[in-house]
Amino acid sequence: MKIKEMFEKKTVFSFEVFPPKKTSNIETVYKTLDELKGLTPDFISVTFSAGGSGNSALAFDVVSKVKEGNKVEPMLHLPCINYSKEEIDGILEECKKRGIDNILALRGDINPDIPPKKDFRYASDLVSYIKERGDFDIAGACYPEVHSDSANMVEDILNLKKKVDAGADHLITQLFFDNDAFYNFREKTQIAGIHVPIEAGIMPVTNKSQIERMVTMCGASLPAKFAKVMQKYEHNPEALRDAGIAYAINQIVDLLANGVDGIHLYTMNNAYVAKHIYDAVASLLK
Ligand code: FAD
Repeated sequence: MKIKEMFEKKTVFSFEVFPPKKTSNIETVYKTLDELKGLTPDFISVTFSAGGSGNSALAFDVVSKVKEGNKVEPMLHLPCINYSKEEIDGILEECKKRGIDNILALRGDINPDIPPKKDFRYASDLVSYIKERGDFDIAGACYPEVHSDSANMVEDILNLKKKVDAGADHLITQLFFDNDAFYNFREKTQIAGIHVPIEAGIMPVTNKSQIERMVTMCGASLPAKFAKVMQKYEHNPEALRDAGIAYAINQIVDLLANGVDGIHLYTMNNAYVAKHIYDAVASLLK
């Protein structure tokens, strides 16, 4: 089923999982998916390496496991910057063979050690390319606190409009901890004429190293109340995990009350955390 049709019926709720690194065993993510069986998120997305870590082939196996094992609609992430048109054609053919209808079309981060290929410069190039090659549902990424390559939010949102005009059916945000940043961004997208559904990306922070890594990587701002909670429990792993779950639930309840189109939960392959959050908000999603 195409994900865009889901937004017409309800507030969408999705999980994101990642395939293991080249050096890890695929069983680790299969275990997570097994533990998530019985839950019925609207879809589960599977990340895909932009090149370098060598786990791209595993992503297909994880996607098939989501579809056949969990009986949940999968979405494959597809970063294009290090792929040629021929390579993307091969990936799209594999998607068709496996019955994968939903693709998150991405540029991917530019790795200073890997010179980008020339066929796709931006995610919007991939969106148009996929559109011409099959009947896929296409999602795009967006950034409530501005993508790091953009000079400012106006520039970033005007570029996002190009991605939507190219054919992105719906959007998923980068993680954020400050809902006001999301509301401000959502209002600006509407002014810019972007009217596709936007899912809010929520990452439950459950350990200290995760906070530092996420903030450096994504530039997400930390509201004072979030920083206070994390500081108070940083030396107590169990309390920090529970506080992180509670913070994410509060964020989601506020977003739902403010009419968000969907919630995309970055599970970090942690089934315990994903289950707790799912159970706490499931009745609010109808
Ligand atoms: P784009 O939409 O191309 O934007 C990148 C930058 O270029 C922005 O600053 C934008 O404003 C600018 N831009 C866009 N179009 C134009 C234009 N026409 N002219 C000028 N400037 C333009 N990465 C992975 O490698 N694998 C994953 O599985 C993965 N999953 C992700 C999931 C989500 C929900 C999100 C939010 C990100 C994910 N990423 C993933 C990270 C993503 O690849 C990076 O953030 C990357 O740097 C940008 O990708 P994009 O698709 O947003 O790029």
